[in-house]
Amino acid sequence: MRIYLDNAATTQLDKEVYKEIIPYLLEYFGNPSSHHEDGRIVKSAIENARNTIADLLNAAPNEIIFTSGGTEADNTAILSSVYSEQVKHVITTPFEHHAVLHTLEALKKRGEISLSFINTDDRGNLDVEHLQQLLKNKERSLVSVMHANNEIGNLNNIELIGELCCSSNAIFHSDTVQTIGHYRHDLSKLKAHFIAASAHKFHGPKGVGFIYCKNGIQLSKLIHGGSQERRLRAGTENIHGIIGLAKALEIAYRDIDEHARYIQKLKDRMIFKLKAEIEGVQFNGNSGDADKSLYTVLSVSLPQHEGADDLLGYLDLNNISVSGGSACSTGSASHVLKAINADPSRHTVRFSFSKYNTIEEIDYTVERLAAIYNVVTI
Ligand code: PLP
Repeated sequence: MRIYLDNAATTQLDKEVYKEIIPYLLEYFGNPSSHHEDGRIVKSAIENARNTIADLLNAAPNEIIFTSGGTEADNTAILSSVYSEQVKHVITTPFEHHAVLHTLEALKKRGEISLSFINTDDRGNLDVEHLQQLLKNKERSLVSVMHANNEIGNLNNIELIGELCCSSNAIFHSDTVQTIGHYRHDLSKLKAHFIAASAHKFHGPKGVGFIYCKNGIQLSKLIHGGSQERRLRAGTENIHGIIGLAKALEIAYRDIDEHARYIQKLKDRMIFKLKAEIEGVQFNGNSGDADKSLYTVLSVSLPQHEGADDLLGYLDLNNISVSGGSACSTGSASHVLKAINADPSRHTVRFSFSKYNTIEEIDYTVERLAAIYNVVTI
């Protein structure tokens, strides 16, 4: 049996979601753009899914546009801000996902935007006063700040950032890929113009997500073709994906408090056991702080030790799936760990939890890690 502790990368499909999807693969296979009964059935299922999502997030159905996932949603938000909303200046953080950072770098390289980064400290906290200064820029700005970081789990105060953007007439995009389905979002209150979601982060299918685009904001078309998604995003819809996305979000909201409590307990247990078993263990960013980080992510910084050079490989051989991250300047260096000035001589392991993990799995994982650290070398 394998232990899967890489839920920030992707999550296991919920069986209830699976059951909901199957009829849209086998029975209801019509093209939603067709005007006959087979098409109409599927079209109406898509609209029901959109209504479900809009209701859960307190948004209007026409503010939800289905995409291929978080990357497309982030790209669409940024490109729409530049090409439809006349943004010339973008304010962001060094911690954003590459879906955001690489898009911004490409725009900057083409001379289409100027780019500013909010000052941060070594725990990854944003300097809000610096953001306020940056917002004084005369050109119309886009602020792109993620709700929670996928590597170190830091949560940002997007309510406050939204307010600041609102009073400066700036557009606000938040990459909420790691929090949709795990936290409640009330989009009637949040002052965000764009947010992004991806179903596979909350037990839905892969390759489907959505962008929320506030009414009044103009979306730029990234994909040209047919008139799907009110001419905003062409291509025959990923019907079973969309059905699965709505079902996964419905389940997530139904069980959100219970799962949040349960998963936080798993994370607390891992922190407690690691501290007890491994001398010198630390936590990156705000990862070890329950109030300031995702309850689903724990980024562990482990001291140098003989035998710890390939911790991910070692855990994999012990049937445990996790992700890493390195602060060194070669290979697959993590831009997030570099931005918090993580010590490159230490080892980072990102554990990320879901409702399917157990206390026994946590204990076993710490035991396997401790086995390396507690070997006395002569
Ligand atoms: N943004 C964040 C914070 C993510 O963690 C991810 C996925 O890892 C993405 C965006 C991209 O989402 P997707 O895999 O749906 O393209």
